[in-house]
Amino acid sequence: MSKPSASPDVVVVGSFNVDHVWRSDALPPPGATHSGEYASGPGGKGFNQATACARSGAATAFVCALGDDLGGHHARSLATADGIDLRDQPAPVPTGSAGIFVDAQGRNSIVVGPGANAVLSADFVEGHAAAIAGATATLVQLESPLEAIAAALRLARESGRIAMLNPAPANVAVPRELLALADILTPNETECAALFARHLGERIDGEAIASLDSPRLHALCRDLLPGGTVVVTLGAAGCFVSHADGSLRGDDTAWYRLPAEPATAVDTTGAGDAFNGALAAALALRPGAPFATHLREAHRYAALSTERPGAAASMPTREQLAVRFPA
Ligand code: AMP
Repeated sequence: MSKPSASPDVVVVGSFNVDHVWRSDALPPPGATHSGEYASGPGGKGFNQATACARSGAATAFVCALGDDLGGHHARSLATADGIDLRDQPAPVPTGSAGIFVDAQGRNSIVVGPGANAVLSADFVEGHAAAIAGATATLVQLESPLEAIAAALRLARESGRIAMLNPAPANVAVPRELLALADILTPNETECAALFARHLGERIDGEAIASLDSPRLHALCRDLLPGGTVVVTLGAAGCFVSHADGSLRGDDTAWYRLPAEPATAVDTTGAGDAFNGALAAALALRPGAPFATHLREAHRYAALSTERPGAAASMPTREQLAVRFPA
């Protein structure tokens, strides 16, 4: 767990949601009422990643927008429990939420109410310029307004810090200029396929990304983000890394694949968030280490998160990680 700090190691800018999950035998069709089991828990890619980062041991600030309601109070108490330095924009709308119906086969229907997440402003983010300028890395995703995300990446860039963009979810039409603000881009296979289609006109199925010939995948990543590093996460297959000339840290080569840590996965929800938060923490905590070392840490962290149920709740602590992966 990290401690609140005037100068965080990592600033995460993004979403907080309360996830409401109903499990029943079948998904209710229109007009039907089913009975089942209910559970709720914190989520939102931003909060998941901030939790992963803080539990990895980095002093973490989380910039977000919250409503003045139970969800907002919940976010505040969770942040306090994990030592996250919460910097929330008060929003005159409800805190973000998601209603999730899951059937016995694990299929789901989801309605997301972005609520407060949709009002996070570039001005509010810019009010935290000092924290971003002092942090090793700033990490953003695509569940917040694009102007707010761009402001965070730009501030990190201008301060010579690491600007990390996790381009999730895949359905957000992220403009090229916003991508270009990132030093590190971390799509999963689906997001990678969406970016290749939108920006390079290359139609490749998400499931085919992992089996692309490595030099070809590297060339596509270079076209997508000529000046930065692309880390394509590949689920249980680990990740593919493509560096730009001059962007290398340590003794890495231009491209390589790193296997995931073997895990007995029970719930892969939030695995990508675990990976991103842990990678940002590793960059901040071990600045001189080779990039591949940071990625191995992120793989271990994400693997353990898949062995635990939930999103933010599944993020392991450093102590739990040390038990699962002794040095
Ligand atoms: P994804 O978002 O599915 O690409 O997963 C992100 C990261 O989580 C991967 O790069 C792995 O480090 C880890 N991960 C996801 N699924 C598994 C799994 N079944 N076993 C081990 N690690 C996993």
